This record gives sequence, C-alpha cells and structure tokens, in this order.
Amino acid sequence: GYRSRSSYKLKQLNDESDLFERGDTVVDLGAAPGGWLQVAAEEVGESGTVVGVDLQRIDELGDHDVDTIRGDMTEERTRHYLREAVGEGGADVVVSDMAPNMTGEYGLDHARSVHLARQAFDVAEELLAPGGDFVVKVFQGDDLDAFREDVRAEFQYLRTVSPPASRDSSSEVYLVAKGLNTAPVAAGD
Ligand code: SAM
Repeated sequence: GYRSRSSYKLKQLNDESDLFERGDTVVDLGAAPGGWLQVAAEEVGESGTVVGVDLQRIDELGDHDVDTIRGDMTEERTRHYLREAVGEGGADVVVSDMAPNMTGEYGLDHARSVHLARQAFDVAEELLAPGGDFVVKVFQGDDLDAFREDVRAEFQYLRTVSPPASRDSSSEVYLVAKGLNTAPVAAGD
C-alpha cells in the first residue's frame, strides 16, 4: 500500500500528463512521508533514480532504492546536498508537494505556499535537463497568476490541475509544466 493518500494525486497527474519514464531521474521536494516517492520509484524502475527531500525524516522505502535528504529547501546547504545526489546528468522530472504549516490565515498561508513553490521552480530550472518536466503544488490566491506566468515562460506547455474540491484541499492546485525550454543561444554566438 501507499504511505499517503497524495500518492493517488501523483498517479493521476502521471496518467494525464505522462511524466515518468523508465530510467528517469526524479527529484521529489516535500517528500515525507513518502507516498510520491513510492509512485515515482515504481514508474522509473530499477534503472531510474529517485531523490526525496523533506524537513521531516523519511523512513526507508524497503524494496525501492530511493535517496532521501533531510533538510530545508529554502537553505542553500540542502540544495547543495541535492545537487550532489542528482549528479551531472541532471533530473528528468522535479515534483514538489511542499506545503507550509497552515495558520488558517488565508493570505499568509498563500504567501508561504508561493514562496515554497518558487523555491521548487528555482531548483527545477537548475537541475532539469532541457525537455524536463516540473509539477508543483501551490495554494490559490493573489500571487498565483504571476507565478504561473513565470513558470509558463520557461516550459513548452503548462496545465493547471485542481483536485476535486474537499474541505482541506479546495484551495490547492497543481501546475504541470512539460518540456523545459533550452536556454536561448546568445546573439552573435
Ligand atoms: N507528497 C508527500 C507524500 O506523498 O507523502 C506529502 C507531502 S506533505 C503534503 C508536504 C511536505 O512538505 C511536508 O512533509 C513538509 O515537511 C514539507 N515541507 C514544507 N516546507 C518544506 C521545506 N522548506 N523544505 C522541505 N520540505 C518542506
């Protein structure tokens, strides 16, 4: 069985948008307790690589060979460990299910969520190979559109997925961005 109900969200996103392929390298940000890691590990298979990061400890996944890092993604130190774990080949897919601790204050929770989502976007731009895919959870609110446009500009295709409304998830959406653009060649080169 899966460790979290969110596993099914990732399975659904993968079914709809074809994110994972055998042999892929996947980075999972905000990975505890490990439900998305289980799904990613199944999809990439033994020839693939999965690296998860979270503030919380992630218990070992048993049969799956998954690398985990305990750390805060807003800290450079954690990004350093992540870069080392991913290696020179870069990542094929970066997913982030990071969420702030909820205060119940809508504007504050939204702002913190966008901050985490932007951290994930930075990591995706840094680690993804050209053509790579990025999935990020973000709470709805005033800054969502600007964030969405920033992500859209760097990828070939972007879709916004709202999970079926439920009491605790009605304000979250997933941005599914496919095909990181190749960096433009500077004029004159
Ligand atoms: N996708 C996970 C799964 O399937 O098991 C569930 C992720 S849970 C909804 C969100 C996670 O984001 C929490 O475990 C939390 O610790 C993590 N998180 C929040 N802020 C973070 C940060 N700054 N750095 C790393 N992880 C963070």
